[in-house]
Amino acid sequence: MTMNVPPVDRLCGLITTDLVTLERWSSQLHSALLTPLQTLDDAATEAGFRFEVASGFRSFERQLGIWNAKARGERPVLNDQGEPLDISRLSERECVFAILRWSALPGTSRHHWGTDLDVYDSSRFSPGYRLQLTLDETQGQGPCADFHAWLSDYLCSPSNPGFFRPYDRERGGVAPEPWHLSYAPESDLLAAHMTADVVRPLLVRSELLLKNAVLDNLEEIVERFVRVPGPSGTR
Ligand SMILES: [Zn+2]
Repeated sequence: MTMNVPPVDRLCGLITTDLVTLERWSSQLHSALLTPLQTLDDAATEAGFRFEVASGFRSFERQLGIWNAKARGERPVLNDQGEPLDISRLSERECVFAILRWSALPGTSRHHWGTDLDVYDSSRFSPGYRLQLTLDETQGQGPCADFHAWLSDYLCSPSNPGFFRPYDRERGGVAPEPWHLSYAPESDLLAAHMTADVVRPLLVRSELLLKNAVLDNLEEIVERFVRVPGPSGTR
């Protein structure tokens, strides 16, 4: 496989080239995922689940909106336990790192690539249940616990067409997100090119809030929150 350097626009969610819309889930994903996703969907269905995609591609503008709403206090910024923080008590640097625990810096989200998606099983939901994408949902008596136990086995099996969990456990960066899947054959190509230098010019000219604190700490942010081990556990 030739490995062309992907354009910044592709890495940072500025273009929608090669995306296809999945009407069933109102989501967009890279066209390379259509067949492997169908394979995963079929396997989950066969195992008795109702496989769903909560979100796929997310644009830079959308991520910027999420980030700025948190920086302004319009959306809650949560601590490690998922409780709201009083961001007025935090330094700008502390605020940046608190947001990063649960939300990607615009330009660095793996959801910009169309190769990553959040998944769940709705077959165990009681009527009116609203998906939250929390760890509690995926463990113990949580409505998605059976699905995630099955998914853990499936991802290790020869049937897996190439999906892995980049945020499978605590690594001191992004909080664990077992529902976040990445299609390695596509995403590994992009991850290899994701550096602070790629995203810096885009952030400089953006309307990003807390911009100075972000730019002052950009290398550390990319190292801790963007670079994750690949499917084999190597970096
Ligand atoms: Zn995700």
